[in-house]
Amino acid sequence: MKKVFVAGGGIGGTIAANRLAERLKPEVDKEDVSITVFDKSENHVFQPSQLLVGMGLENPADIVKNERELLNPKVRLLNGKAGEITKIDVQNHSFVTSDGKSHEYDYAVISTGSTLDWEMVPGLKEEMHTVWDMDGAVQTRNLIRNFTGGTVVFNVARLPHKCPVGPLEETLMLEDYLKRKGLKEKTELVYTYPVAGVFGIPNVNKVMTKIFEQRGIRVISPFTVKAVDPQAKTIESNEGEKIKYDLLLGVPPHMGTKVVGDSAIGDRRNWIPTDKNSLQMKDHSNVYVMGDTTDIPISKAGSTADFESYTVAENITSEIRGNESRKMYDGSVFCFIATGFDTATYIRFNYANPPVPPPPSTIHWWAKLAYNKLYWSLTAKAVV
Ligand SMILES: Cc1cc2nc3c(=O)[nH]c(=O)nc-3n(C[C@H](O)[C@H](O)[C@H](O)COP(=O)(O)OP(=O)(O)OC[C@H]3O[C@@H](n4cnc5c(N)ncnc54)[C@H](O)[C@@H]3O)c2cc1C
Repeated sequence: MKKVFVAGGGIGGTIAANRLAERLKPEVDKEDVSITVFDKSENHVFQPSQLLVGMGLENPADIVKNERELLNPKVRLLNGKAGEITKIDVQNHSFVTSDGKSHEYDYAVISTGSTLDWEMVPGLKEEMHTVWDMDGAVQTRNLIRNFTGGTVVFNVARLPHKCPVGPLEETLMLEDYLKRKGLKEKTELVYTYPVAGVFGIPNVNKVMTKIFEQRGIRVISPFTVKAVDPQAKTIESNEGEKIKYDLLLGVPPHMGTKVVGDSAIGDRRNWIPTDKNSLQMKDHSNVYVMGDTTDIPISKAGSTADFESYTVAENITSEIRGNESRKMYDGSVFCFIATGFDTATYIRFNYANPPVPPPPSTIHWWAKLAYNKLYWSLTAKAVV
């Protein structure tokens, strides 16, 4: 029997496991192939909706589901200590789990996501409220509800981070919220970003900079946060800026997961060296890497993981069946960008074709909300 292991049952791991189970159905039914997902948690969080939780538009309980319910019944799932991987041994083709067991694989898919590295910037953890984790999303919602005016600084600490467009969305939604609550005149909204402009991709930066100007949002960039002073309530950059805030929101530095570091298979920031087209781990052809944890030059996004899952599932299937055909990932990404409480635009691009966002509209807003709902029944289950 050929064993396929999937490390991580988040967005990437779940879609990949379900797509593999669909592609390899005859082999799985005959028990020639087994597919196992390892995850330390039983819960699957749809992180894109943490942004809506932070804005009070979504209930935390509605964006979490039991992982077992999302997986094809033929996919095995290991949770808790049995599913928490402590070492990925790519030399000996095995995962070691917290219960002390070692499991050997023929093919591995690594999709363990990313973590927040609060320690990189002194004072950040005490002061920054972030929707990039679930508890932070709930805190942010409460703080925004109680906000009565002052200076709000939105800071992106470092690149890359997951959901590159998220900071644009949170800032523009907050501006709309302040306007609706009659707090706009009493508030200064400041957006700080580590590279010049408001976003790293030129076409998107151009469109978004104009929107930020029209909406009266002050932009300070490049701004690489050096330290936050919780007593003085100031945030300071390597470039020499110091801003006083009443409320500090933002995105802390990101890195790959601890297990990648502990297994010594990542770079300095625990991103795994990955071929940007085949998605194979460099020097380890039976290991595929997807989602946030790769080092490839593309957005860390759920849609990236979804597009990547076609390549991973197709190529593992071909290898198991001894077929020569291979599918290459072309760098496809699709992300909606909320520009307020009822408008949005979107970007769709790949390695060869840069994005051109259309003008914001309510149609794109409703499409974003519809997509979020359909995630559970269509995307996660790899129906499309
Ligand atoms: C606020 C916010 C807004 C976003 N908005 C969008 C959006 O609009 N569109 C979009 O496409 N993307 C968006 N994203 C990004 C998207 O959620 C991530 O890029 C995506 O979840 C990455 O998928 P993944 O499989 O790599 O990691 P994850 O979905 O994070 O899954 C990783 C899994 O690995 C497990 N794991 C970690 N370590 C171990 C271990 N040692 N052993 C076992 N299991 C382990 C975790 O428990 C988790 O289940 C957003 C993210 C945030 C935070």
